[in-house]
Amino acid sequence: MEGDLFLNKNPYSSKGMFDMPARCPVCGQDFQIEPGFYLGAMWVSYPIVIALIIAFIALAHFVMGLHMLASFLFATVLLILLCPPLIRYSRAIYLNIFAEV
Ligand SMILES: [Zn+2]
Repeated sequence: MEGDLFLNKNPYSSKGMFDMPARCPVCGQDFQIEPGFYLGAMWVSYPIVIALIIAFIALAHFVMGLHMLASFLFATVLLILLCPPLIRYSRAIYLNIFAEV
């Protein structure tokens, strides 16, 4: 799975943000193992997002000295901005769990 998982290298590009080739261009690994395969990637991103939101709120509240509500808003905005790379990493991790090689 050395080949690019996504057709567009920029995760913030507005077109084809999550477009993926059908197979790995290097080793031929199937990138679409079954219909709706990447729905399962939500279960990869879920614990990552929980860990990040706790870390961001702690950073804003204890390090930056923001109030709790402001810290929550800070973490929310950061996580929204981080969505595209998070979704990509989650798919990559999820695919690697089920990949043949
Ligand atoms: Zn490959």
